[in-house]
Amino acid sequence: MNGNNKPIVSVNRNKDISKAVHAALDKIEIPNLSGKTVLLKPNVGREVDPNLGINTNPEVVDTIFNYLKDRFEAKYLIGDSPIINTDTFKAFEQSGYKNLLKNDDLQFIDLDDRSPVNIEIPNGKVLKNIRLTGYWHEIDYTVSIPVLKMHMHCGASLSFKNMKGLIYKRDKTTLHHLQAPEILEELKKTIGKIKELDIAIADLGSVIRPDLVIIDASYAHEGMGPSSGNAVKLDTVIASTNFLAADIVALAISQPKWSLEDVPHLKLLSESIFPSIKSLNDIKTIPDDINEFIRPIESPPKSITIKYENVNLIDIDSCSACLSTVFNLLKNNKEFIDKHYTPEKPLNLAIGKGITESDLYSDTFLIGNCISNHKENGIFIHGCAPVESTILKIIKERLTLSTK
Ligand code: SF4
Repeated sequence: MNGNNKPIVSVNRNKDISKAVHAALDKIEIPNLSGKTVLLKPNVGREVDPNLGINTNPEVVDTIFNYLKDRFEAKYLIGDSPIINTDTFKAFEQSGYKNLLKNDDLQFIDLDDRSPVNIEIPNGKVLKNIRLTGYWHEIDYTVSIPVLKMHMHCGASLSFKNMKGLIYKRDKTTLHHLQAPEILEELKKTIGKIKELDIAIADLGSVIRPDLVIIDASYAHEGMGPSSGNAVKLDTVIASTNFLAADIVALAISQPKWSLEDVPHLKLLSESIFPSIKSLNDIKTIPDDINEFIRPIESPPKSITIKYENVNLIDIDSCSACLSTVFNLLKNNKEFIDKHYTPEKPLNLAIGKGITESDLYSDTFLIGNCISNHKENGIFIHGCAPVESTILKIIKERLTLSTK
């Protein structure tokens, strides 16, 4: 590939993250957006506090909004569709967006508050159609503003994966349930770690692509992402009009030993949409040498294990919403669990669509709608995913019953 045709990715680091965003965007050629409807799509999937590396840093989004508004007279929207049982507006408020949302030139939208539109995916390997946000046909230009995150199921969650938030409500979880053994077997010959979920995410690439991406690594998320790992302060942003190139650069600075096979949906997108972009060599970075930005962070765990001897978690094909909820439940209630459960009489929890009757112990809490067909074999907890407080309440009720 001619060096001049390589996609450009600009990287900047500054303790003042607003300056880093400005400097990174100054190096990117953004088309004229005047008269367009522009969606700012940060990752605000959970009701959590700022600076945890879970939701996008509001200061990054505020700077991007003002940068674009100063240059283009466009209609600016900001929104997300969070995980199930999360109030979109509350998630934005809790994670520090209150002031930004007061700006009259920026319209907050809950991406789920309109009836969805059904979109065909004719080239999809496993996904043939999908319901997207009802705002879909109104949006001319999408700015993906994810957190640089490790992800327990996908390797990493970056600017393309952030677009999954445009899928209508709980239709997102359908991506976790697809079965395509023959296609999977074939793809496993070249991408060992691939799962149906990765194929489904990559299938979205033929209909949903961000136009501009700014990856927020002010606080990256290492380990058990998307929400149960640790925040790592990197003070860095990565900007590009090519999402795959930006995601590759994000991996180059956070997981320098990885290749695209470690994030299978990116490998598939490279093959199907950008065959000339396979690695950092195919990208023009600004600056040319990005070695100073490399800061390896902890990878997601290869297998999910619970370190508590008094907890028995049976997880077969769960999705990250249930798994994160369970991890947070255990982390936030360790004292309670230690008081009431022992290695001999553990707390039994089951999650995931792959659970069968033979996997279950007696007195197992069956968490989530996708194991509702086993509700006769344990204590079923409704929800997709059920919230942490509901699970804890039911566990406590059960304890009270057993001591009566
Ligand atoms: S119940 Fe949990 S594991 Fe099942 S689909 Fe819903 S979120 Fe995923």
